[in-house]
Amino acid sequence: MPYSVFTGRPTPAPGEPLFTPEDTAAAIALAEEERDTCPSCGLPKAWCRDSTNQFSVFETHEEQCHATYAMAVHRAKVTDRSDETKAATQLSVLFAAGRVPDFDAGLGLADSADRQNAPNDQAENEQGH
Ligand SMILES: [Zn+2]
Repeated sequence: MPYSVFTGRPTPAPGEPLFTPEDTAAAIALAEEERDTCPSCGLPKAWCRDSTNQFSVFETHEEQCHATYAMAVHRAKVTDRSDETKAATQLSVLFAAGRVPDFDAGLGLADSADRQNAPNDQAENEQGH
């Protein structure tokens, strides 16, 4: 999808160009950035492959993705499928029942109960309460 359409430009009518010159420039810039980014470390290749950065320039930080851990535990328990079937099996994670976080926490939004009551509160206020 062209960036301009993604950000609100109406879908062009038949005969009009789908990609604006700005969309094309942005797509080329993205392709160049992806080409120049190391798939292993995520840094620009110009940095991570520069021989002057070989020693003592980078520090390693480690953290664990607990959702990926849960998928690894699940995958290790599966022993009754062929390697091909296991390789083709796509896993995903969801929060367990009763463990779903408050997705609005920290966003400065009124909690969902407040939002549900808001129209009634407003109606009461308009009635002079
Ligand atoms: Zn790298």
